[in-house]
Amino acid sequence: MTSAATGAGRYAPSPSGDLHFGNLRTAVLAWLFARQTGRRFLMRVEDIDTQRSSRESARRQLADLAALGIEWDGDVIYQSDLFDTYRAAIASLPHYECYCSRKDIQRASSAPHVAPGSYPGTCRDLSEVERASRRAELAAAGRVPALRLRAAATEWTVQDFYAGSYTGVVDDFILRRGGNADQGRDYAYNLAVVLDDGAAGVDQVVRGDDLLSSAPRQAYLAHVLGYPESSYVHVPLVLNADGARLAKRDGAVTLRQMLADASVTDVVTRLAESVGCPGVTTLDGLLGDFDPATLPREPWVWVG
Ligand code: GLU
Repeated sequence: MTSAATGAGRYAPSPSGDLHFGNLRTAVLAWLFARQTGRRFLMRVEDIDTQRSSRESARRQLADLAALGIEWDGDVIYQSDLFDTYRAAIASLPHYECYCSRKDIQRASSAPHVAPGSYPGTCRDLSEVERASRRAELAAAGRVPALRLRAAATEWTVQDFYAGSYTGVVDDFILRRGGNADQGRDYAYNLAVVLDDGAAGVDQVVRGDDLLSSAPRQAYLAHVLGYPESSYVHVPLVLNADGARLAKRDGAVTLRQMLADASVTDVVTRLAESVGCPGVTTLDGLLGDFDPATLPREPWVWVG
């Protein structure tokens, strides 16, 4: 990888519970990729979903990362502080109101000409008269419409360190969810992540490979907003013995649980082994020894 003295990588946990081994592994990888390429390493709390997130959970996650020895640059960014920024950004983007219910979308997007998982554009070309009546119907039920990007592309290609050139669907994706959950403050992850990375000068996105299929939408939005292209590094997830994503029910998987009968050094040693560096016991050691080319390409299987 090339060095980028002015660029930044980041880790962006969602504070809805304690970090487990899989989260910690992704955090360590994000830190390694940033530091090995001379980038700053930023920390962002993705608490945009105010129903599921809490500051207390964020505090515990940040304490866990610090306990492992992960250091980041500058202040932690909290998405829940940035709703005004998100609102202003939407106003500057080509967008439209969408009145579809989940059912409407399911029905319409199962049509044969619609790419799987993409919005078929039902509300894209409604007349102002139709909009006014749909908006009034929703308002009567105490709800607000969703806002969608008016995308001028149907697919976009990103460069990923492991997946190579990856092309995926771009649709009129949601910028702000509708409904009554947060009365118009329910900004979408795909919007926030692009704005936050762009504003912070993040040019290297390291995260779990479950998000690879979101990268084309995000990269397209970054392009529309005039941000430079990021390099992507989607890393395999940690799975349990049944092949499912690691979760709390898989036993003592959080750092706090692991530290009940192991030391920080033991945990770092396990993390190092999982990223292809058996026998390494410190983060400093990993910084010297980690080779992105030898990161296992298969999901890492957690054995409790
Ligand atoms: N907040 C997301 C997560 O915890 C990560 C998003 C990202 O890295 O872009 O899975």
